[in-house]
Amino acid sequence: MISIDAVADTLTELHDRLRTLDEGTVADYIPQLATVDRRLFGLALVSMDGHLYTAGDADVPCTIQSVSKPFVYALALADLGLAEVSRRVGAEPSGEAFNAISLEPGTGRPANPMVNAGAIVTTSLVAADSPEQRFERILACLSAFAGRPLDVDEQVFASEAATGDRNRALAHLMRGAGSLTGSVDDAVTTYFRQCAIRVTAADLAVMAATLANGGVNPVTGTAVVPEPIAMRVLAVMATCGMYDAAGDWLLRVGLPAKSGVSGALIAASPARFGIAVFSPPLDATGNPVRGVAVLREASERFGLHLMHHR
Ligand code: GLU
Repeated sequence: MISIDAVADTLTELHDRLRTLDEGTVADYIPQLATVDRRLFGLALVSMDGHLYTAGDADVPCTIQSVSKPFVYALALADLGLAEVSRRVGAEPSGEAFNAISLEPGTGRPANPMVNAGAIVTTSLVAADSPEQRFERILACLSAFAGRPLDVDEQVFASEAATGDRNRALAHLMRGAGSLTGSVDDAVTTYFRQCAIRVTAADLAVMAATLANGGVNPVTGTAVVPEPIAMRVLAVMATCGMYDAAGDWLLRVGLPAKSGVSGALIAASPARFGIAVFSPPLDATGNPVRGVAVLREASERFGLHLMHHR
């Protein structure tokens, strides 16, 4: 078994070498995301004893975007249980892009909670008396995963709310099919706010480490979700977390992971550590170029693949 310190020491080396990798495109379909500095590059790793290791811009905030999806899925599972959530959102890799119209014929049930359609339904399932309370519960849950109070980047929220017609269309289709209940406007507004929650790579590493640690935040000691929920969330991340490159990711890296269009990426090595990379430029599948490079190299070098014979 390799030591966590060995992996952590490598962060600086990977950071210094991979910062010259200048490929990919910063997402601009949410106009405000395009204003970010493409050179930002932060890495962070949190061990199960709560130790934080960082390199580069690990304290620079970005919006969480799709990396919010596994954590809100965890909250919905905690509220409703696996059987009820699975009735509403599947767990099959769609093999399609994050914004694909990936709905089960007949029922309109979205393929999984990591594509936008599934995430919009998952968000709407969080128990609350009002949309405001639903968002407050989501923010509180993500803050507990991060171990500090998080807030919203209102500019990114407004930018996505002004341009998010595709997600709105997806929500209308699902409501028409019966797989999304309640107000489309409330569902997408809450989802856009959730995507605009502000985090750093250091926060994201704590959040990933909490999943890797059976739902207990290794820094604060708070039990955020029960262990079986953390395990299920990691399972869905392993099969569906990397958009349409999820199969290739499992083949080459072999860790549960989730990426977002802001350039955030988390991965978890169960019972060992959580890791996060922030670097805005994305490849053709929408995954962050440097984030993928860091994890591929770390996985190979240290034998981190889940199927690795230890
Ligand atoms: N808010 C973004 C959207 O729904 C998130 C997409 C992503 O990060 O994959 O389009």
